Amino acid sequence: MRIQLLPSTFDAQGVATLEQRLTCFLIDDCVAVDAGSIALALPNDRRSLVKDIIVTHPHMDHIATLPIFIDDLYPSLQQPMRIYATEEVIGLLERDVFNWNVYPRFSDLKNDYGPVMEYVPIPIGKPFPVAHLTVCAVPVNHIVPTVGLIVSDGKKSVAFSSDTAETDEFWKIVNQMKDLDALLIETSFPDRMAKLAHVSRHFTPATLDQELKKLTHNGMDIMAVHLKPSYRDEIVEQLKSLNIPKLSVMEPGRVYEW
Ligand SMILES: [Zn+2]
Ligand SMILES: [Zn+2]
Repeated sequence: MRIQLLPSTFDAQGVATLEQRLTCFLIDDCVAVDAGSIALALPNDRRSLVKDIIVTHPHMDHIATLPIFIDDLYPSLQQPMRIYATEEVIGLLERDVFNWNVYPRFSDLKNDYGPVMEYVPIPIGKPFPVAHLTVCAVPVNHIVPTVGLIVSDGKKSVAFSSDTAETDEFWKIVNQMKDLDALLIETSFPDRMAKLAHVSRHFTPATLDQELKKLTHNGMDIMAVHLKPSYRDEIVEQLKSLNIPKLSVMEPGRVYEW
């Protein structure tokens, strides 16, 4: 399984910077987990490969360019873009984003080929297919309804925490997996901001360290993601000092293979 964290900022030479402002993971070039940076990062020839987008929760950093992405592809979509989310999240997207005020309700619109966007409500705790993948969604502990995901391609499995603070259900499902090859887990704030991390339901390196003790799998790659750009260096230093084997910070733009 190939996973790329799509970058959201580029330097003057057009090279992706290390800061992660928006969240979008592209799996095998065709399935997106969240869509924060999707319309910024993908050149035209890669856009048409994306047919399925899973939205973990409706926070702006995870959906920022989703409306623009569908708008850009509008005339060329020969089948609707499928947006996978829980019923709750679909309701929030329709109420707060695709509401004719912030942006058009694409789920009601058609181009020359037919509908351009289609919601696929996803179950909780029960595997469902997305393209060539099998995905299981688990509620996590964030300030809006949010799911973590466990994604398998039949050979490899990768778990995405999405945005969360301390949680048990996610680990229960992750620990039930036969194998786990990688865990992509958020670490949003440095330790000195533990209070803000707590009220906004995010991890710091110290709370991540505690949380990882719930994981019974060993030896998988652990990729820290969702580091707030303003505190990135500080978080990276604190993560290093934890001395957790195979823990690294995921780099935007780089393709990882499991
Ligand atoms: Zn969030
Ligand atoms: Zn976020």
